[in-house]
Amino acid sequence: MIQKQRSFQTRKMNDLGKLYLIPTPIGNLEDMTYRAVRLLGEVDLLLAEDTRHTIKLLNHFNISTKMQSFHEHSNPHEIDSYIEQLQQGQNIGLVSDAGMPLINDPGHPLVSKVLEADIPVISLPGANAALTALIASGLSAERFTYYGFFPRDKKEQQKVLELIGKHEETALFYESPYRIKQALQAVVNILGDEREVVIARELTKSYEEYLRGSAVDLLAYLEENQLKGEIVLLIEGGGLEEEVSFDHLPYKQHVELMMSSQGMMAKEAIKQVAKLRGVKKQEVYNAYHEL
Ligand code: SAM
Repeated sequence: MIQKQRSFQTRKMNDLGKLYLIPTPIGNLEDMTYRAVRLLGEVDLLLAEDTRHTIKLLNHFNISTKMQSFHEHSNPHEIDSYIEQLQQGQNIGLVSDAGMPLINDPGHPLVSKVLEADIPVISLPGANAALTALIASGLSAERFTYYGFFPRDKKEQQKVLELIGKHEETALFYESPYRIKQALQAVVNILGDEREVVIARELTKSYEEYLRGSAVDLLAYLEENQLKGEIVLLIEGGGLEEEVSFDHLPYKQHVELMMSSQGMMAKEAIKQVAKLRGVKKQEVYNAYHEL
C-alpha cells in the first residue's frame, strides 16, 4: 500500500500537528536557514538530543520554545505521548546536537511511529557533515555510500573496505580523531598504499581543513601530527576485482574451468577448487575422476 503525504492535504490533516525535522549547525551558527530559525520559534515543543546544548542555539536566536530531551535512551512510551500531542494539533520540532536529526543521531523510531499514525513529517534541508565534506573532497560525488561511523571491529573493517573496493561509489565515514590513524592503516592494508583518501576536519569552523592524498601519505602525516576535532573520512571506491563465485558448479566442471581458464594441470586445479569451496581435496578428486 502506498502512503501519500502532502503537506496541506485535507482538512483532517490540517487539524493535525506536524513533526518538523530541523537541522542545526555543525559548527558555524550562520548555517541555520531562515526557515529553520522561524520554526524553532514557532513549534509548540522542541525535542532535543541534549537540551543543555540546544539552549545555547535558542539563546543565540532569542528563542524560548519549550524543550524536552529526546535521545536513543528515551523511554519508547514517550513517543505515544508526542503522537497524542500531534493529534491534538500541536507542532513538534526535532533537533539533534549538530546537523541533520536521524543521521547518526536519534529520531528514527519517532519518525516511523509518527508516519504510522498518519501524521505529516516535514524535513527541512540544512547542515550535514558528510555531504558538506563530499562535495569539496575532490572525490566523485556522483555516486556515494554513507556508512556512518567507521567500524571498530577488525573483521567488520575488512568486510566494509572490501565492499568499497568492489564498487565505484565514494565511501563516507564519521570517525574520531583518536581512531583515524588505525582507520587509515586498515585502508592501506585492504585497499593499498595508493588509495585516494580525504580527511575533512572541523567543517564550517575557523580551523576547517581538508587533507587530500594517498592513504599511505596521509598515514605518514598522521604519524607526525595528532589530529583534533570532528572528522569525516572519505575513501575513493573501486579498484578491487569483483569476486565471481562458481559455487553453483559441480566440482568436476569447476576443476575443468580452472584448467581451461588458468592453464592449470588437473592436480593443481583440484587443490585450488578444494580450497575455494572449503572442502577436502579427496572429495573434489573423487568428483573429477567420477569415482
Ligand atoms: N547528524 C550529524 C550530521 O548530520 O552530520 C552527525 C552526527 S554524528 C553523531 C557526529 C559526527 O559527525 C562527528 O563525530 C564527526 O565525525 C561528524 N561531524 C560533525 N560535525 C562535523 C564537522 N564540523 N566537521 C567534520 N565532521 C563533523
